[in-house]
Amino acid sequence: MIIELTNEFKEAIPVLNCLENHGYQAYFVGGSVRDAILRRPIHDVDITTDALPNEMKRIFKTADNYAGEKHGTDLVFLNGKKYEVTTFRIDGKYLDNRHPKNVSFTKNLKEDLSRRDFTINAFAMNQEGKLFDYFSGLNDLKKKIIRTVGDAKQRFSEDALRILRAFRFSSQLDFKIEEETLRASQMIKENLNDIATERIFVEFSKLLAGKNPQRSLRQMYDLGIVDFLPGHELITDQSDLFRNYIGIQSSSHAINWTRFIFFSNLRESSLTKYLGSWKMSNQLKKQIFKSINLLEKDKPSKLDLFDAGLEISIALSAIKRDDRNNLLSDYENLAIHDLSELDINGIDLKNIGIPVGPIYGKIIEDLKEKVILGKINNNKQRLLKEAKDDYINMGTIKK
Ligand code: ATP
Ligand code: MG
Repeated sequence: MIIELTNEFKEAIPVLNCLENHGYQAYFVGGSVRDAILRRPIHDVDITTDALPNEMKRIFKTADNYAGEKHGTDLVFLNGKKYEVTTFRIDGKYLDNRHPKNVSFTKNLKEDLSRRDFTINAFAMNQEGKLFDYFSGLNDLKKKIIRTVGDAKQRFSEDALRILRAFRFSSQLDFKIEEETLRASQMIKENLNDIATERIFVEFSKLLAGKNPQRSLRQMYDLGIVDFLPGHELITDQSDLFRNYIGIQSSSHAINWTRFIFFSNLRESSLTKYLGSWKMSNQLKKQIFKSINLLEKDKPSKLDLFDAGLEISIALSAIKRDDRNNLLSDYENLAIHDLSELDINGIDLKNIGIPVGPIYGKIIEDLKEKVILGKINNNKQRLLKEAKDDYINMGTIKK
């Protein structure tokens, strides 16, 4: 089968050419090939080759495209884009349910593809768009099925993260997990205890961002796989997760996690504990807290809505089943939606003789609040007058 190459692949052809010109094999591989067949947007175009890492280094260093190495994968720069180029490899025996003891290189493409997790992730494609599908991935794509390459139990025993990846791809693509793969996920689930929270976070976040998180969550509950997610014991009321879980698909982590947490009925101290058990950024935690608090309010204030912004207001409105779209229309009716809409700025403050300093931020904040709360109009003359008063007041209060 020949796949029509999109621009993302065409732009990377010189990397394949470079390797082929030195006598090596080189292919596009993994998720990008799957997404090309599905006509989904392509993000990372990954490349696989039989050139050994030091041979690659030599080739790309000479061409001045070498951008370093990360976990045995070479990074190649081309026209401002970075490509991961990995040598064909066979994973050795797995020691601890997550790390192969050793990795050996091979000259055989099929061997490299056989160590990949699912049939739909085990495609390779050459620069003419010719597809290499040794494990019936195409068939599974057509049937919308997630199936491990080889024996599911063994593949999950080698690396338990694959269990979560199965549910992640199932949600992301709205595919079903094949029976044997599903059964094995239940049998091997305890090995998830050995997987680093950071890796679980990446997969679970992608699951929440997918087309069908409901089904994956439901199945993970039924099979007891959720018990191995960080902080899961804190979720004591799952009824809403299955009855009411709705909302628009979003690429924002904050929105997707807020939705999951809202329907998991996690609030206040259990929410703090729950978020503490995941390794996520403090910024994300703060965003989730803010959004949950907003959802808890019967009527969020105008300042709350301004703070949340449009995207969050739309998402929260959907989560709340806010049919009349009150939250959203309240947001739209705000006098301003962004500080840039305020009819005054730092230059205006300077022009009326206020010395530049931290006081600018305080004055602007005060004017913003007054405009949003409808205390004054968003009109330059009015704002200038208010700014002068603020300056005098703040100046006198200052010790
Ligand atoms: P995404 O669109 O989310 O990037 P992807 O399929 O590219 O999806 P990655 O996590 O980026 O997924 O991994 C790239 C490829 O590496 C996969 O398609 C798969 O072939 C292989 N792979 C990744 N993780 C594993 C794993 N734990 N076990 C086996 N193969 C894996
Ligand atoms: Mg990828």
